[in-house]
Order: sequence, then structure tokens, then C-alpha cells
Amino acid sequence: MLAVVDKVHIVGMSGHELEEFVVQLGEPKYRATQLFKAVHERRLRSFDDITDLPKAFRAKLVEVADISRLAVESLYRSSDGTRRYLMKTTDGKPVETVFIPTENRDTICFSSQSGCALKCDFCLTAKLGLLGNLTAGEIVEQMIIVLNDVYGVGGETPHGTNLVGMGAGEPFLNFENLIQALRIMADEQGLFIVPNRVTISTAGIVPRIYDFANLEDRPRLAISLSAATDELRDRLMPINKRWNLHELMKSAKELQKSLKRGERFTFEYVMLGGVNDSDRDANELADLLERYALRRVKINLIPHNAAEQLNYHSSAPEHVKRFKNILESRGVSAYVRTPRGSDIYAACGQLAAKSRTSTSSAFTREENDVDAKRELTPEGVTLTNA
Ligand code: SAH
Repeated sequence: MLAVVDKVHIVGMSGHELEEFVVQLGEPKYRATQLFKAVHERRLRSFDDITDLPKAFRAKLVEVADISRLAVESLYRSSDGTRRYLMKTTDGKPVETVFIPTENRDTICFSSQSGCALKCDFCLTAKLGLLGNLTAGEIVEQMIIVLNDVYGVGGETPHGTNLVGMGAGEPFLNFENLIQALRIMADEQGLFIVPNRVTISTAGIVPRIYDFANLEDRPRLAISLSAATDELRDRLMPINKRWNLHELMKSAKELQKSLKRGERFTFEYVMLGGVNDSDRDANELADLLERYALRRVKINLIPHNAAEQLNYHSSAPEHVKRFKNILESRGVSAYVRTPRGSDIYAACGQLAAKSRTSTSSAFTREENDVDAKRELTPEGVTLTNA
């Protein structure tokens, strides 16, 4: 008889779900706490390593559960210290995660989907199409793998860790798994990464922005705008044809109303040379924010990270500055995001599961920081942080 029983992935189970699970296996409830801490606090990735559990229980767990469903295929290091992990799920989907060190704190940029269904014209991930949603466990496991690599298994994170849900995929098209993953990661018996250290970025899935506005203990939100008129946004971000700027701005307004003291949200605006970076564009953006009384929102200007398959280039730095000055003269605070890891295809909009086996032959895995920059630079790629 074929009795293939799906194993559960315990990394995606909350403390409460783990309790039910161990009780079903005939174990006392406190085993759930032991398991949860082993996975999320000690960051162990094999049942054999959880030596404080009885051997017989561990053997049972191996039969019915997985503790790891992601494996690192390649690790790329940027000359700026950024690391890009190209991982694979057990069913073969590519997953990318980026570690971004800064002086005061470290940030992990995780993916919510493999590939992406949205066809933003300036983004390389879009070229992959959607390969699948990631489970809550596959989302959480990305942080466990990266933290173990950077700080050693279970090692303390010296600067604390911020998370950004800005890797591959549209987080709000995988809403439930995302929220489950965030809850698990916030647990103080585990990773203990609390919501206000997390920022999620959406391309504008309007119904989910309303859902998000109603959530307790929610992370910060960034909304990708990149154009101030429907005409241009339809072209750059086709999701605009589903929910246009008016609907998007109305939902942003609702979110704004729901903010508690000290909470804020951001609009992201990818700066595309000659496309959306003129003085007129800046004024139209300020007009739009004014119309919806959202002038006090923060704008993040993201210089475009180029790639050979994308027909865009970044606005020149002086142009970005001019754009920022216009916004500020109109009372809007704007910040310029420094691209990180663009030499290893780790920067915003560059996650496309690129590896040695992909189309670019100049692309090889390299551990050495200095050589990495030279070796990993495919032809035609502009190094915006060079
Ligand atoms: N799907 C989500 C999150 C992923 S991308 C979203 O669209 O918000 C995070 C940010 O990177 C988004 O603001 C996106 O517009 C931007 N981005 C995409 N491609 C880019 C590129 N090539 N260069 C710079 N930013 C890019």
C-alpha cells in the first residue's frame, strides 16, 4: 500500500500549533516549548541536534515532520559586505535572501514568494514570473539560515536585526503565510524580532492594505508608487490597472488614519532616468500627496538598479537630488536609498535567481570580497554603488 503522509514543517508552526502537534504524538505539552526554542532560539536545523529531547521522540519527529525545507545553493558576497543567498525549497523553487550589514544594525531582506506574478517593467524578479508562494516555514527559515551563517548557529545577533519584506515576490499576495511568519518571528521564545523592526513593501494590493490597517501588532508598511499619474503607473506597474492611484491613495489614507503614535509608513519611488524623474514628475507627486492630505508621509527615492534585461537606467545623482529638493520645498520629506550589493545582483529589483547556471556566463560564485566585484559583474550592469 502506498501511504505517503505529508510531513509537517515545524518551522512554520506557532507555539500553540506545536502544542497541539506534540499532544497528538502523545507527548507532554512542555515538549512544544522545547521544540520551539530549539528551532527559533537555538536555531537548530536537524532533529538529531536537539539532544535534550528523548531519542524515541526525535525518531518519531523525523518520521512525521521536517525541520528544514530550504537549502543554500550559493552564497554571493558583495564588496560592500552584503551577502546574497540563493536557496532552494525541497520542491525545487528558488528563494533569495539578502543580508545587509550597516554600522548600527543589520538588515535581512527576505522573499515572500518564489519569483513574482506582478510585471513591474523595471524589476528583474518580474522576468521569472510566479514560481510559487512560500510557506510560513520557508519564510522564517530564511532568517534562521542567514543568522546562523553570519553569527554562528544560535549565536547572539550583536546589533539586533531589522527585517524587510522586499525580496522576491509580492508579500500581500501571500498574506496569510506572511502574517503567520511574522507572528512566529516576533515570539520572545524564538527569534524575537518584533513588528516595529520589520518593514513590508507592497506594490499596492489594495484590499490587503485595508486588512493590514486593521491588524494589531503590525509591522511598518512601504507602498511602491513610482509614478504620480495613472498613465505612467499603468505602464510601469501593471497592477495599477487593477487598482488605480485613486484606490491606492484612498487605502493609504485609511492606513494613515489607523497609525498609532510613532508609527509611520513610506512610499517608495524608483528613480528611472528620463521616465519619472523630471521636475514636473516631482511636482505631480507632491500634488498627488497634497490631494489626499498625505504630505507628511515619507518618500524613499530608490535609484534604479540596472540589469541587462531591463530597459531602464537610474536617474543621475544630481537629478535625484533635484527631485528630492522639489519634494522638500513642497513640504514632503524624501530620503534617497543607497543601493547595496548591486555587484552581486542583491539590490532592490535584482533578485532573479541568478547563478552560475543561469544565462550570464560571467557570473560565478566567489567568496573573495575584492575579486567578487570584478568577477561577478556581468557585462552591461551599471554599478550604482561603485
Ligand atoms: N513586490 C513588492 C516588494 C519587492 S521590491 C513591491 O513591489 O513593493 C522592493 C522595492 O524595490 C519596490 O519598491 C520596487 O518598486 C523596487 N524595485 C523593483 N525593481 C527595482 C530596480 N530594478 N531598482 C530599484 N528598485 C527596484
